[in-house]
Amino acid sequence: MKSASTPAVIELRQCGLTYPGPPPVTGLSPCDLLVRPGEFVTVVGPSGAGKSTFLNVLGLLDSPTTGSFLLDGIDTGTLSDAQRTALRGRRIGFVFQSFHLLPYRTACENVAMALTYGGTARKERAAFARSALEQVGLGHRLDALPTTLSGGERQRVAIARALVGRPSLLLCDEPTGNLDSATAQSVLHLLDDLHEDGMTVIVITHDPTVASRGQRTVSIRDGHLNEQAQP
Ligand code: ADP
Repeated sequence: MKSASTPAVIELRQCGLTYPGPPPVTGLSPCDLLVRPGEFVTVVGPSGAGKSTFLNVLGLLDSPTTGSFLLDGIDTGTLSDAQRTALRGRRIGFVFQSFHLLPYRTACENVAMALTYGGTARKERAAFARSALEQVGLGHRLDALPTTLSGGERQRVAIARALVGRPSLLLCDEPTGNLDSATAQSVLHLLDDLHEDGMTVIVITHDPTVASRGQRTVSIRDGHLNEQAQP
C-alpha cells in the first residue's frame, strides 16, 4: 500500500496544448487531473476529440503550452529535453495499437531491448525480460519470433516490453484496436491483473466497452477533459 504522501503519478494543473498553426488549434483545453498510484483510468472520446494530444502530453512526447504537468511529483516543465527523455524511459511504459515489435528478434530480445539504454547489464536484461514475459503468461514462448505469435500474444510481448523497466505508469493507446473481441478480452484481463498487482494504468480508447473497464473514466470532447460519473 502506498502512503498518503506518495505523489500522484499524474498531476495536471490547468494543463493545455494549443497547436501554433496558423491558425492556432486547441488540442487540449486547460484541464486538471490527478491519477494516484495504482489507479486504472480510461480516457474515451471520438476521433478528433484530443486523445492523441492528451497521450502525447502524458507520454512526454509533446509539451503543454499552458499550465503544468507533474509526473511522480516532478514538474516536467522544468526539465531539459534530455531529462524529459530519460524520465519517459524510466517512468512510462507505452503500449500501442500496432505492437511495434522487431520482426527478426525473439520475444525475449524484443523485451530486453527496452533496457538497452538504462544501464542494465546484458545478462540481467535477458533475465528481466524472461520474468516480464512470464508475468504476461508467455514464459513458454521466449524464443518465438513475432511472426509466429498470434495478435494477442504479440500484444502481450509489447506489454512485457512496457513493463520490463518497472515504470510507474503503463500508458496504453487503443491497446485492443487490432485484436478480435475474444483476444481483446484476454488483453484487458491482463491489464486488470496488472492493476490488481498495483500498476497504474491509463488506457486511451474510442471504444466505450474498453473504457468501461477502468476504475475511473474521463472523457475528452472537443479538447475538453471531463470526469465521468461512476455508474
Ligand atoms: P484524436 O486523437 O482524439 O483523434 P487529436 O489529439 O489527434 O484527436 O486532435 C485534436 C485536435 O487537434 C483536432 O482538431 C486536430 O485536427 C488537431 N491537431 C492534432 N494535431 C495537430 C497538429 N500537429 N497541428 C494542428 N492541429 C492538430
